[in-house]
This record gives sequence, structure tokens and C-alpha cells, in this order.
Amino acid sequence: MARSSSLARAVKAPMPPASRDEWLPFHRPSLDARDIEGVVETLRSGWLTTGPVTRRFEQKFARAIGARDALALSSGTAALHLALRVLGVQPGDDVIVPTYTFTATAEVVTYLGARPVLADVDPVTGNLRAEDVAAVLTPTARAVVPVHLAGLPCEMAPLRELAEGADIRILEDAAHAFPASEGRKPVGTLGDAAAFSFYATKNITTGEGGMLVLQDPAAAEQARILALHGISRDAWLRYTASGSWRYQILASGYKYNLTDIASSLVLSQLAKARAFHARRRLLAARYGRALRGLDAIETPPTRAGTEHAWHLYVIRVLPEVLRIDRDAVIEELRARNIGTSVHFIPLHLHPYYQQVWGYRPGAFPHAEALFEQAISLPLYPAMSVGDVDDVVAALTDIVKRHRR
Ligand SMILES: *Cc1c(COP(=O)(O)O)cnc(C)c1O
Repeated sequence: MARSSSLARAVKAPMPPASRDEWLPFHRPSLDARDIEGVVETLRSGWLTTGPVTRRFEQKFARAIGARDALALSSGTAALHLALRVLGVQPGDDVIVPTYTFTATAEVVTYLGARPVLADVDPVTGNLRAEDVAAVLTPTARAVVPVHLAGLPCEMAPLRELAEGADIRILEDAAHAFPASEGRKPVGTLGDAAAFSFYATKNITTGEGGMLVLQDPAAAEQARILALHGISRDAWLRYTASGSWRYQILASGYKYNLTDIASSLVLSQLAKARAFHARRRLLAARYGRALRGLDAIETPPTRAGTEHAWHLYVIRVLPEVLRIDRDAVIEELRARNIGTSVHFIPLHLHPYYQQVWGYRPGAFPHAEALFEQAISLPLYPAMSVGDVDDVVAALTDIVKRHRR
């Protein structure tokens, strides 16, 4: 069945060539009976909020990335915030963030009264490089937040070297990057801290959720306390047979814990993460083989020696080959029943970052050029290879029709 809006269009005008008759959404989560059963089991257990299932999820996730421990939280944004707090970011500090990211990466800096200092990115990958950090480094910089964009790991060795020299901490924004690795080291263990997201569109999901990984055990302990109101021990223990009613408040904390209801869904998703990833890789490879023949389109970069999480499949449409721009290509795809998205509108092009932090268009040319040409194509395990072929057929037709 076509969407009603495309039906309405079909009445007015014939569908363009190479159209699907059904709408292909940009994203659809992969949920099966086991996922649902896991949640139902928790609902029946009598324990709804943070408890044994969350603990099991933390342990399994930590093992999956080869970390000592991990802290499940209510969102990836909460994980970014808490990470910066336990890494010691304070009012008056600067935190360096790529402009080519989602606002959560930079917004959390302001939660702590610190200043987000934006940086440009690699002109091909969109990832933050050591030289981009060096270009904006200030004496008051306390941390840097490389984003593994689309799931492609940043080049971490030069970033680590620079961070060590400047005495700043590294927080990986790994929202796109599970599972991914650089060499034999999984993303999440490449800096001082890492934040993962289990938001509805991410590679494994529970609707809203996140994970914080910290290298320093003392920081990890502090984060665990802060995540639940600054209470001296896991509050859930208070209500178990072995727990005590007595507790102490050690700090002004947050309500950032993940519920067992949510953990049971993402625990079930975690068991399928390898299969999901294999499927994403297969679909991305199929896109790659088919689209490399189209001179108007650049396929996403990869890097030897790294494992790409393939969270996003971002193509670039080249203006020197086509008569139409990126926005028009998106409209042409929409007319052919294909949903897309754009990752990201650089932060410095948004009113908030201009009005409050004084950024101006033109400040970061690499990010702007990437943004102007980027289209994120549908890529998720629930897609069929036929869906990928439909997207390719539509793009092929659009390129043919709008070539210069
Ligand atoms: C999704 C996302 C986040 C935030 O994660 P939430 O779980 O939605 O809070 C942070 N950074 C990037 C790059 C993201 O894509």
C-alpha cells in the first residue's frame, strides 16, 4: 500500500519513473517476539526500575566492547553529560566539539557552565582530526569530544597524542558506533570515556537509553553515584532482602538511571547486535557496488584497519555533475516513495550557536561543504536487498534525468 499522500499525488500526476509503490521509511526498528517477551517478563517480575536486568545488560555490554564496566543511563545525552562532569569539566572550561554533529554533543557542555568550542572536520569523512582540534585549542580547554560519524571510527592516535600534550580528556561520542573498532580496539575504549545511545534509530535500541564507559575506576564509581541522585549505594539495593534502608547523599546528582523495563529490551537487542551489524554491512556493500558506477554520487568513506558500525549510509551528491542540488534530489527520492534524512546541519549554522556563542556561516568550510552535499539513505537490518535496489534504481534515474 502506498501512503495516502503519495496516493493523492498519484491522482494529480503520474509517479516518476523508478518509483516504488510502497513508502520506504528512512528507519524502522527491528523488534521481534523475543524482544517483546523480554519486556513482558520484566513487567511480570515485579521489578520495574533499575535492578538485576540493568546490571546484566551493563555487564554484557562491557564484555562486548572489552571494557571493565559500563553504566546504563536514560539517554546518550545523559551519558555525555555525566562523562564530562566526572572528567572534571567546570564553569569557565572549554570543551572542543566538532561542528558536524548532533546538538547533544555540544549542548551537554553548557549543562556544566562550560563553553562549547566548535571545530571543523575532515573534508572527506566528517570526523574530527587532531589538526582540527589544534586549530581551536585554548588554554582553558579541558576535554575534546570526537564523534565517530555514521559509525566510522575517528583516527584516535593523533587525537590521543594531542590530548596528552595539552592535558585534556577525550570523550568518545559513540552514539553511531556500536559495534565498531579501530585496529583491535573497540570504540568505547579509545579515550578516557565514551557515550553510547540506544535511541529509537540507533543500531541497538530501547527507545530512549544510553551507556557510559569510563576508563578510570574511581570516575566510574563517581558516575554511578551521580546517576542516581548522588546516593551512596545503588538505591535499588535498599529494597532487596540484603539491603538496608540507610543511605547517604554524597553529591548533588541526577535522575539518569535506566529502568529494567528498558534494559530488558536492549539486552535482547544486544544478543542480536552481531547479526544486525552483519546485515548492515551486507546492505552497505550492496549500495557501494551499485552506486560506485554513478559519477554524480560519492559513496561513504571507509578506513583500512577499522570496523565501521554502518549506523548511517551517507552519500554525497556532486554539484559539478548534476543540475539539481541536494535538496532537490531528496524531493525526487521522496516523489519515488523513498525516505531519507540529512546528518547533520552543522551546529554553527543554527541560531542558538550563532546568537549565544557568536559563530557565523563560513567559519567551518569542510563541514559546510559536506552538509550541502549529504543525503543519508535508508540503512537498517529490516530492509530487504530489493529495498536497496529500489533506492539505487531511483538514484540512477534521477542522475540520468538531471545530468548537466
Ligand atoms: C543520537 C545521538 C546522541 C544522543 O543520544 P540520545 O540517546 O538521543 O540522547 C548524541 N550524539 C550523536 C552524534 C547522536 O547521533
